[in-house]
Amino acid sequence: MTETLSGGCQCGAVRYVIRGPVSDQAICHCRMCQKAVGSIAWPFFTVKAADMAWTRGRPTLYRSSEAAERGFCLACGTPLSFQPIGADALDLSIGSLDDPTRLPPDKQYWAGQRMPWFHTLADLPETPSSASPEDIERRRPYQHPDHDTEVWPSP
Ligand SMILES: [Zn+2]
Ligand SMILES: [Zn+2]
Repeated sequence: MTETLSGGCQCGAVRYVIRGPVSDQAICHCRMCQKAVGSIAWPFFTVKAADMAWTRGRPTLYRSSEAAERGFCLACGTPLSFQPIGADALDLSIGSLDDPTRLPPDKQYWAGQRMPWFHTLADLPETPSSASPEDIERRRPYQHPDHDTEVWPSP
C-alpha cells in the first residue's frame, strides 16, 4: 500500500515525509534497539530511502555497529532511524509518526531478547489521562504538534 505519512522528533527540528509503500511494520525486541531508544522495544517501519525525504533538519547519525547507523535528533534526542550501511531502505520509529495509529506492528523480531514481562503489559491496571486539554494548554508544551508547521517554534 502506498502511504503518505509524516512525522518527526519531539522538538520539531527534524521532520520527514514518506510517499511510497511501507515494506515492514514491526516491533524489535533486540538489546541494541532497547538501548538505542531507551525503552523495552522499538516499534518501527521500513521504507525505501527514495520514497522519503527529510523536510526539516536531518538526524544526527550514530554508528551503532559495523553494519548500521542510527539517527536521532541532536536537539531533543528523539530516536528516529536505523539504516544498514549502504542500504537503499531505512527503518523509522512508529512513535515519531504524526499519526502512529496508522502503522500497527504486525510482527515481532528478536523475540528471544524480549522482556520476560512483555505479555503482561496489556493487563496492567489503568488510569485515564490525568490532564484536561485546558491543563495541557496551561503547561504550554514545547513538543512539536502532530502536523507540519511553517515556522517552529511558533511565534
Ligand atoms: Zn528534536
Ligand atoms: Zn533491534
